Amino acid sequence: MRLILLGPPGAGKGTQAKMLNEKFRKPQISTGNILRKAIQNGTDLGNRAKVFMNAGKLVQDDVVIGLIKERIVEEDCRAGFILDGFPRTIIQAEKLTETLEEMGLLINAVVDFEVDSEELLNRLTGRSTCSNCGAMFHRTSRPPLKDGVCDSCEGKLHQREDDKEETIKKRLEVYEQETAPLKEYYKKQGNLKTVKGCGAVEEIFSRVCAMVS
Ligand code: AMP
Repeated sequence: MRLILLGPPGAGKGTQAKMLNEKFRKPQISTGNILRKAIQNGTDLGNRAKVFMNAGKLVQDDVVIGLIKERIVEEDCRAGFILDGFPRTIIQAEKLTETLEEMGLLINAVVDFEVDSEELLNRLTGRSTCSNCGAMFHRTSRPPLKDGVCDSCEGKLHQREDDKEETIKKRLEVYEQETAPLKEYYKKQGNLKTVKGCGAVEEIFSRVCAMVS
């Protein structure tokens, strides 16, 4: 199983990727999480990426492509993987197709989450993220059991720097310009599946599972 989860920021890719990972035991590869870890660790990559991420812009294609190329050849990806937040530009998608072709592999499905923009804003402004495992919670729709503490790993919850309202607007704009064209790209390849991303997390998950299994 090799999946791509597509959709705007706040569409639920991260949450659904985590649930897919638990059900199907395939690694969740989130470029956002990899970059945030690099920032936390103060690496060169992190320092370079931080400026773009905090401004709501995309990190350069060659940087994220490099990260993905390194990651998908690891042992745990042999039986498949779930890409969460990659690709985000046509160049990234083309490079991914090329790399997989060289490995004799294909993407099985591209799941595109549809959520209206008002709902996206509400989700992103109310969200808190675990500093340790990246799990996401929401002030009203998915509050943690203990205030400020992650239900899964007891890590500390915080608001992501790029979940501030101004940055969110920029990220949504960037999504429309750079990432939305991927829907057409994968439609042409014949593996785009659109899922309604509204409703309870579990309901959305059932829709995703029905599509990918
Ligand atoms: P995410 O956690 O997927 O919402 O990503 C957070 C931020 O990380 C994005 O707004 C970008 O700045 C950066 N990022 C994550 N994935 C990519 C990607 N595939 N290409 C470029 N930048 C990315």
